[in-house]
Amino acid sequence: MCGIVGYIGQRSAEPLLLEGLRRLEYRGYDSAGMSTLDGGQLRTIKRVGKINEGLAPALAATPMPGATGICHTRWATHGPPSDANAHPHFDQSGRLALVHNGVIENYAALRQRLTKQGHVFRSDTDSEALAQLIGHYYDETPADGDARLVNAVRRALGEVIGTYGIAVIHQDHPQLLVGARRGSPLVLGVGKGENFLASDVNAIVAHTRDVVYLNDFDVAVITRDNFQISSLTAGAVSRQISRVEWTADAAEKGDFAHFMLKEIYEQPLAVQNALRGRVNHEESTSLFGGLNMTASQLRDVDRVIFCACGTAWHAGLVGEYLFEELARVPAEVEYASEFRYRNPPVDKGTLVFVISQSGETADTLAALRESQRKGHKTLAIVNAVGSTIAREADGGVYMHAGPEVGVAATKSYISQLTVLTLLALHMGRLRHLSAARGMEIIRELEAIPDKIQHVLKQNDHIRRIAGKYQRANDFLFLGRQFNYPIALEGALKLKEISYIHAEGYPSAEMKHGPIALISPEVPSVFICPRDAVYEKTFSNIEEIKARKGPIIAVATEGDTHIATKADDVIYVPPTVDYLYPFLTVVPLQLLAYHAAVLRGCDVDKPRNLAKSVTVE
Ligand code: GLU
Repeated sequence: MCGIVGYIGQRSAEPLLLEGLRRLEYRGYDSAGMSTLDGGQLRTIKRVGKINEGLAPALAATPMPGATGICHTRWATHGPPSDANAHPHFDQSGRLALVHNGVIENYAALRQRLTKQGHVFRSDTDSEALAQLIGHYYDETPADGDARLVNAVRRALGEVIGTYGIAVIHQDHPQLLVGARRGSPLVLGVGKGENFLASDVNAIVAHTRDVVYLNDFDVAVITRDNFQISSLTAGAVSRQISRVEWTADAAEKGDFAHFMLKEIYEQPLAVQNALRGRVNHEESTSLFGGLNMTASQLRDVDRVIFCACGTAWHAGLVGEYLFEELARVPAEVEYASEFRYRNPPVDKGTLVFVISQSGETADTLAALRESQRKGHKTLAIVNAVGSTIAREADGGVYMHAGPEVGVAATKSYISQLTVLTLLALHMGRLRHLSAARGMEIIRELEAIPDKIQHVLKQNDHIRRIAGKYQRANDFLFLGRQFNYPIALEGALKLKEISYIHAEGYPSAEMKHGPIALISPEVPSVFICPRDAVYEKTFSNIEEIKARKGPIIAVATEGDTHIATKADDVIYVPPTVDYLYPFLTVVPLQLLAYHAAVLRGCDVDKPRNLAKSVTVE
């Protein structure tokens, strides 16, 4: 689920591994550990808690020599966070060290069997069962150089049910690093006289931009100067070396206090990057290189399903409104985690889009596979190039948002909205949408980056509002039509990073229950731009005001009327109804950000959350 970094080369492994691990911190974790090999000596340090509080001081006190090593940040699934449960884990001999991301589902049976055979377990984790199993097969295999370790890994993986990204080293094979994956991402970094393994390119991009994205069932056997990849299901396979588009600087904070703030400010650029090369002004439509569908196949689509989780699900909900409004195609958004098990009847003419920033979200990946199993064309909207979802989908669109490090998604959301608007335009122009309306969409979309910039100028004003309400225990977020998903997203952002309880509702639904919560202590955030439902939303504001609930309104510039009712107003520039989400979400991201900072929360690494959720 969290992070793996491995190194084999000529430099001292410890600082490289620690730096790589720090670059993965944003993904969320509860403990960290490292093993290095110095000739025939395996050394390990593992500590519960943040790197700066646990692992780093321990390493400073006891440096670990060696030019081969593996390290890990753990997000506990089996066994509480503790020094003993932190990775690496060992085999019975203590000569083999393994780090693991994912879940070994049959660990209990394996543990029972191995315990009967005399293995003594030292942790509560599922991962240790795999380390012990590899060790067990290692002991059974006759000595045959490095092949002995590789064969033991392959045999053990053949018995494992579940998901894994692993890195393994062994005291008796100091020139060897073995990696394997199934369901958890793993990438090989190819250097000169050195090679890397990582669960995320962010960890290694400072050292090499040449990478091999491993596939499920791949086993990588890595030495300082070479690597070989074979598949558990076939023999040797050849995998292409890809070039990472961005450099390590893209994942630095620069002058911003937090990654989240930096990424909020990158949103105008994120829209431009998602638009780049995709607008066809002459024909008032959009173009995509990777949909892998002909115009007539797209015309035959009679229903669209978006599958996603979290913020991407909220983007999918905007997508539902956009596709129905602009393309007149029936559309709906599904939670990937529900879709994969619910077995809904889906007709032949249905096109499925899966949306995931990381391209590794376990539920979304499972929804993709389930959809393909049933024979549906399944396209992906993904940020991470080369990710599993990007590779397995029948086609798709990259967001081009650059690395998103803050756990709370911001710029990836804006990129998803941009891609979804372009897709709705594309589908619309193949059907009933006129050239004039197509042109309007393009014109308005191209104006969005400047308008977001304008919203960002109100940062200080939004910080003051956050200060006024920072002690509230509950918030309501209310919006209608295109801004209903924004109400959900605003509530999610606040919950995620400031830990304030918040609920998002369609404004009019408030009367059917949540209105009972209204009191002077419970602020309501109304997303109420000058759109087709403005008057209706305004009546909902009056209903809250009559019950003495404080109101924060996100409204269109020039709307002085709203200031007569709302306690605080944040203005956004005017746009067309269907593009307001691009503008109204920004103040809500900033509101959540400032509330979290004022309450002393760890904005970039909120408690209990992981950046990309690669377990079910
Ligand atoms: N399931 C393993 C554990 O609980 C690995 C978790 C992870 O991916 O960090 O230790």
